[in-house]
Amino acid sequence: MTLRIGVIGTGMIGQQHVERLHGLVPGATVTAITDHNETLAKEVASRYDGITVHPDGHSVINADDVDAIVVTSWGPTHEEFVLASIAAGKHVFCEKPLATTAEATLRIIEAEVAHGSRLVQVGYMRRYDAAYREMKATIASGVIGAPLVFMSGHRNPDVPAIYTREMAIVDTAVHDFDVARWLLDAEITGIRVIAPRSNRHGLDREGGDDLQDPLLMTVETSTGAIIHVETSVNIRYGYDIRGEVIGEDGTVALADRGLTAVRANGAVSVQVPGDFQARFRSAFDTEFTEWVAQVSSGEPLTGPSSWDGYAATAVCAAGVQALQTGERVGVDLVEKPALYA
Ligand code: NAP
Repeated sequence: MTLRIGVIGTGMIGQQHVERLHGLVPGATVTAITDHNETLAKEVASRYDGITVHPDGHSVINADDVDAIVVTSWGPTHEEFVLASIAAGKHVFCEKPLATTAEATLRIIEAEVAHGSRLVQVGYMRRYDAAYREMKATIASGVIGAPLVFMSGHRNPDVPAIYTREMAIVDTAVHDFDVARWLLDAEITGIRVIAPRSNRHGLDREGGDDLQDPLLMTVETSTGAIIHVETSVNIRYGYDIRGEVIGEDGTVALADRGLTAVRANGAVSVQVPGDFQARFRSAFDTEFTEWVAQVSSGEPLTGPSSWDGYAATAVCAAGVQALQTGERVGVDLVEKPALYA
């Protein structure tokens, strides 16, 4: 069986996912797309055979030739399309965030619990990255002992003018929060945010007055382990994702990237990816390959759930408050429904 997919939002990431799902991922095809910008949607559809352009997201969700939905529109629209997909009884893959407020993510949880089985997966693709998976397996093996600290560095060469200081938390560090919860098998219970003197590259760009970059976050967890997140989004040298878990007996760290290391002129150099696509392309491929296989076969979904989407959004809200107040802010999650046990 080929899973017929409808994609809502054909901007930057939507186009990449259409490309993936209409040829690269086994057992999947894209049959329907829509975008606010109809001209763009038509142009994207024209690159492939067999894709119909629909007037809006609801038309995609309810189309007879659509088995499952991928939501890649702007974040504030996600709740509406995820709820409509659940109402239609169709699987929905929603790019992060699941929704922009914790209250909205709880409405999605309520609808999915009422449906009675998981239909929603959220696009936290780091869980599909081979290096993070090896890191998790190493922790599970017990060789480094119980995890005590996770140091997570999230570095971008630059960001666009629309990027605000809150986005360092809700758009950037959110990936570090999700992967930390998954690696440490823990919930986040509190957060503090501090900022050193700002990087001049961030301040000098258009819209830079508002930016505090880097940010340093100290994040508490339910196991007592501490997560330290550093976001540096104007660091110029590359898109560099750092990570090290410090345990009672040893540590496990993400290795440097690059297929080769050059030794010359008294130095060793390895390549640093230029952007998130270069760093996480194969993680996105694996994410959709596993999602399509699970949805098609009816196996239970194992990817990030509505609960994970809720937890991430709740942590981000606390992080924004911590940034604004300079105070520690607690994260109090509701009781976890059995569906997500
Ligand atoms: P983008 O380039 O702005 O694309 C979003 C597209 O959705 C735009 O073409 C927009 O049209 C369209 N759109 C907005 N509201 C719509 C609606 N109600 N119905 C149909 N189309 C609608 O943004 P992006 O960078 O692709 O990001 C999209 C989502 O993916 C965001 O939630 C983002 O956080 C997420 N994302 C995740 C990752 C990751 O690492 N997992 C990476 C990148 C992005 P208009 O511009 O005309 O409004």
